[in-house]
Amino acid sequence: MSNEPKKETQDAGAMPDWSAYRGVLIVIEQRDGEAKKVSWQLLGEGKKLAAKLEVPLLALVIGNGVEPLAKEAAYYGADKVYLCEAPELGVYRTRPYSRICLKLIDEVKPEIVLFGATGTGRDLAGAIATHLPTGLTADTTELDVEPHPSRLLLASRPAFSEKMMATILCKQYRPQMATARAGVFQALPRDETREAEIIRIESLMPEEEIAAQVIDFIRDTGNLNLEEADIIVSGGRGLGGPEPFAMLKELADALGGVVGASRAAVDAGWIKHEHQVGQTGSTVRPKLYFAIGISGAVQHTVGMGNSDIVIAINRDEKATIFQFAHYGIVGDLFKIVPAITEEVKKRKS
Ligand code: FAD
Repeated sequence: MSNEPKKETQDAGAMPDWSAYRGVLIVIEQRDGEAKKVSWQLLGEGKKLAAKLEVPLLALVIGNGVEPLAKEAAYYGADKVYLCEAPELGVYRTRPYSRICLKLIDEVKPEIVLFGATGTGRDLAGAIATHLPTGLTADTTELDVEPHPSRLLLASRPAFSEKMMATILCKQYRPQMATARAGVFQALPRDETREAEIIRIESLMPEEEIAAQVIDFIRDTGNLNLEEADIIVSGGRGLGGPEPFAMLKELADALGGVVGASRAAVDAGWIKHEHQVGQTGSTVRPKLYFAIGISGAVQHTVGMGNSDIVIAINRDEKATIFQFAHYGIVGDLFKIVPAITEEVKKRKS
């Protein structure tokens, strides 16, 4: 308990002196020693913020046997990495992880702390925010800072049923904290020549003090992870019904990818919402994105426009999606998709 600072209130009129708080801290999320891509994306964005503020980019890695990730954090841009390793940290649990974060924030005093807006990141950031005299902006899609002297984090996110963007400031308190959507920000190219100071910190709760015990870990049987996927084969209203999604799944399987969808297909009940790409779905940044029978509405392209390569298949040569495509195929998707799948399978065998 002693490591959890009490929530304090502040006179809203007075601008406190926050000069002791410096640096941008990214909390790296991992599972089984593998980092979530959003962590590296946040290091990329954090680097820009840190450069504007002229402060170091800090990373925190928590887990068991995760030293390689501390090095990876350096390769992706961190100047200094705090590493906390212990057997009881092998699986994420709120209390031990949040204690470590709180103590580090208390001692290092970063002015900005960022987490991925994943299930774990949301849980951890929320737990920390309840113990700190500060706020938390959830699910941000744009980040910027005002330079010195205000040094304010400009954390933007869709608001009012996604109809407008709201930029949220935390003027009175530090650190300024936000969770950020996966797939929105760009990671720096991995560079093994980058070095960082790695500082080991102690785990704070021995196993016997942790009330929550993990009995078993059951993976989602659907195993859909759009935001982490390298290849996405998305279908839209042009598919005309739920059945053709099996055809897209066949192509996705052949390529080692997953199936995505436009909102029109989801709203029609042809595929579950977890597959939806776009403003009210997932923001994705795969190496390869197929947009099949999708017209290219802004609410869709905002979620996939950062893909490395986009292949659009549409029978309407004037469809907007072709403006976002690196390769466009004009024609009937029911002829083109099976032909691509067949060719992929042939080349693999
Ligand atoms: P359509 O626009 O109907 O396009 C279908 C395409 O299929 C057409 O271009 C057509 O030429 C092509 N086609 C038809 N038959 C064939 C064929 N046999 N072969 C080849 N091509 C064919 N949309 C999203 O996707 N994601 C979101 O997150 C999202 N959020 C939204 C949030 C708000 C607040 C609002 C207002 C809208 C949102 N939308 C979102 C909806 C968005 O505006 C579009 O309505 C939707 O993206 C259209 O889906 P679509 O491209 O599949 O359908």
